Amino acid sequence: MAIAKYFSKDLLAINQLINSSQDSLEKILSSTKVGIGFDKNGAETKEGAFALDLITRLLARLYPNLSIIDLSKSNGKKVSALHKLAKNINSNIGLTDTLDDLDVLIVAGQTNKKPKIKGKLLFIGSDNWIGNFSLNGTISFGDSNNPFGPGVAACIGAANLFRVVFHEFFQDKGLDKNLTFSPLTCSIDDSIHNPKLKSVDLKDVSIVGIGAIGNGAIWALSKLENLTGSLNLIDSEKVSISNLQRYVMFDENDIEQKKVEVALKKFSSPKLKVNLHFGNWSSYLKERGDYNVHVVGVAIDNKKDRIGIQSSLPRKIINSYTEANLLGISRHNEFGVTACLACGYIPTQQERNYISEVAENCNIPQYVNLVKDYLNLDIPVETPRIQNTGSILDVIAQANTIQRGELDQFHGKKISQFYSEFVCGGISLSLSNSSRISNVDAPLAFQSAMAGILLAAEIIIDAGGYRNSPIKQVTHIHPLNIFNKNNPFNHQLKRDDTGRCVCSDNVFINQYKAKWQETQTTI
Ligand SMILES: [Zn+2]
Repeated sequence: MAIAKYFSKDLLAINQLINSSQDSLEKILSSTKVGIGFDKNGAETKEGAFALDLITRLLARLYPNLSIIDLSKSNGKKVSALHKLAKNINSNIGLTDTLDDLDVLIVAGQTNKKPKIKGKLLFIGSDNWIGNFSLNGTISFGDSNNPFGPGVAACIGAANLFRVVFHEFFQDKGLDKNLTFSPLTCSIDDSIHNPKLKSVDLKDVSIVGIGAIGNGAIWALSKLENLTGSLNLIDSEKVSISNLQRYVMFDENDIEQKKVEVALKKFSSPKLKVNLHFGNWSSYLKERGDYNVHVVGVAIDNKKDRIGIQSSLPRKIINSYTEANLLGISRHNEFGVTACLACGYIPTQQERNYISEVAENCNIPQYVNLVKDYLNLDIPVETPRIQNTGSILDVIAQANTIQRGELDQFHGKKISQFYSEFVCGGISLSLSNSSRISNVDAPLAFQSAMAGILLAAEIIIDAGGYRNSPIKQVTHIHPLNIFNKNNPFNHQLKRDDTGRCVCSDNVFINQYKAKWQETQTTI
């Protein structure tokens, strides 16, 4: 066994993109050998070390067979350190350190000789803010303390590697050729503005949501040694096993711990004050005792909380999200003038409610009322409710042609927890080998990590004033398509014109102005 314990979640994420049976996806993953090769430049520069750290964190969560190779044979210790990292992420992983039988190899650093393998070579490198990717030749890493270029390079490398492994399912089988991408411009064609990172005073930054995207942000921010000010991390959940499929900073040892507490352990910058709040946005404001929140990085996945965050009128909001094959960030710092965070989240039609979502995704749409009963009565899922004999588990087993005994593992759980593990955790897919499950958000690790890195970059760009020309309000990237195709990535956001948004309300506009007029600066 080399597959991860949370493999069902991996399959669910792939199933969102590739509509194929889990058996065939599992077969591909189990039989594919992927590798990470590095040379002296990759191992000994700071940027190279950042990229190797992230690419290992990304690949070890999904690929059961991973080889990590010291191409210049001068940094054997690095191999053991990365093996250890990979093993913490997936204790079942099969690890080697040779080029034998590799189907695809990511090469980090400017090695003189291209390694000889039977499969495909992908090259990554970086220069400060700029992440580089190539199919043709090796690329060097700079030695700056900037994690953004190498972070971007690792995510683009992982996206291309995914396309190589699952090429038979992609209509467009192309890979990225030579590309550079900088979070400063969010563009692939401007590499001139590349300022050095100095010490940055965050003043007062709050990140809401230490989930998959929050993990990407923590990865980048925790690598920055010269941060001062306050960073407030807000999340109300504990780590569960299915989270590991795409939480790049967390591993198997963190299960059942509070997400904010695990995140805190990653920071070592001596002058940065990291504050934790184990709760939601409103309990955070209550504890904080004021509404003067300067900058908020939003990395949660629900609309209601986004509207709540906007209604508390922070000076600036940086929003991040993933959708099917899309990741995005949006910038909101001119409340009442440009689109606010809530503009994009005004419900336009009746939202499908949670109960019907549970019923549909469990493949029992005709049993909405039964789901409602279990929710309202707050009873375990094995409790009989149907003519005093059967339970909702019996109905679900039958509807999905799953052996009833396979669902015994959920005894004692309430319906919402059952749903979150059975459907959102990918177990339904792995047990029933059923068709595609829609309506479940399960991106791949590199998509969430890239969104988080862009979020963190935006926080640092804002605090340090690193951007030298304005950027449009929203950036969208499709990591499973060739990069060039969807360039430009930056677009205007449309302001809500129904008059129903908080940003049309003069009371809110005046309050925002009163709060921030003197201190507001334009970026
Ligand atoms: Zn609005």
